[in-house]
Amino acid sequence: MQITKSKALFEKAKQFIPGGVNSPVRAFRAVGGDPLFIKRADGAFIYDEDENSYIELINSWGPMILGHNPPLIREAVIKAMEKGTSFGAPTAHEVEMAELIAKMVPSVEKVRMVNSGTEATMSAIRLARGYTGKDKFIKLEGHYHGHGDSFLISAGSGAITLGSPDSPGVTKGTAKDTLLAPYNNLEAIENLVAIHKGEIAALILEPVPGNMGLVTPAPGYLEGLRKICDKEGILLIFDEVMTGFRLAKGGAQEMYGVTPDLTTLGKIIGGGLPVGAYGGKKEIMDFVSPSGPVYQAGTLSGNPIAMTAGLVMLHHLDENPEVYTRLNAIGSKITTGFQATLDKLGLDYTINHVGSMYSLFFSNHAVTDFESAKKSDTVLFGKYFQAMLKRGIYLAPSQFESLFLSTALSDDLIGKIISANEESLIEIHQ
Ligand code: PMP
Repeated sequence: MQITKSKALFEKAKQFIPGGVNSPVRAFRAVGGDPLFIKRADGAFIYDEDENSYIELINSWGPMILGHNPPLIREAVIKAMEKGTSFGAPTAHEVEMAELIAKMVPSVEKVRMVNSGTEATMSAIRLARGYTGKDKFIKLEGHYHGHGDSFLISAGSGAITLGSPDSPGVTKGTAKDTLLAPYNNLEAIENLVAIHKGEIAALILEPVPGNMGLVTPAPGYLEGLRKICDKEGILLIFDEVMTGFRLAKGGAQEMYGVTPDLTTLGKIIGGGLPVGAYGGKKEIMDFVSPSGPVYQAGTLSGNPIAMTAGLVMLHHLDENPEVYTRLNAIGSKITTGFQATLDKLGLDYTINHVGSMYSLFFSNHAVTDFESAKKSDTVLFGKYFQAMLKRGIYLAPSQFESLFLSTALSDDLIGKIISANEESLIEIHQ
């Protein structure tokens, strides 16, 4: 495998783009080495500028659930382009999209389209504050909700401590309204709510967090949150940017049977184009401008090309429930294969897995929250990442990310992934 063009591009990119990339994790900082520059992608494979091919386990961080460049989306997008690329006015596509989302995610009665997951979560929090008339909200440690100021708050400062900014540029004034609590710990939420009684607008979380690596909700946890929120008049917001349309047609809320007040969506909803959305109960959503006082807008929101791609994707998922059976089977095959390898090699690492998302943590302990995730050996993960890459498997370049599987993974490719995993684990322990 020769990697020369990616290296040259990265050198040049660093002259004109901060850190050479348009989103930080792409720079491979956490795993060493230079990032690959991607030329094209098709089905289960991604190709770098040197035409090396890799089996994809990130899939653009989730959206490409059917694999890359599926003909049904490509053809619809090309056709839509013939009619114009942006109107800045309402279209029939947007109505169809809203109706379809409401059908697939029943807690969403009304929905507003935006252009990214970040916009969706920022808008949902503003709406929750506007609706309840309260300023504070609870965010869980290790959960990621995009780069809006109030979400960039350091984890780990303890459940009852006020947040402190995680990034220069986020003011202390903003940070003080973000309250932090650990995941999978109902008592911590109860304590926080007792201390800040009557001050909390919302609790936002990834119901199945993927941004500290994949962690699963303890039995009863999501139900417990729902109960606390109901009792205290706090809006429960599920950030399903990753899990929406992936864990089930109706996302994690369908899988776990817990209904949030608001839901944020992204990734799959755009079929690979930049789309996000937030939605929920009618009476709350009607607080959004122009029907209500909470302002939120977007020049390219509901863009006809993006709506076309998203509609084709969602209709396909809605009409073909076997996609989920297949995705779940692929997730089970890979993680069962990995576990068998760990057992064979006498390694005690932790695999967390739900449906078509999984993480292999280089830790001998159960990973249930941010604190336990952080105990993983990130240096060893870096070696594993490079060993897998060398064998043609493209992983997320950080221990603290979930992998996202697609229906494009054939049994043959699954076999290759399992073998590469075994060889890589042997190599890094030599
Ligand atoms: N919420 C979650 C749960 C996410 O995983 C992400 C992005 N990975 C976001 C929000 C932000 O989405 P975007 O990158 O589209 O702004």
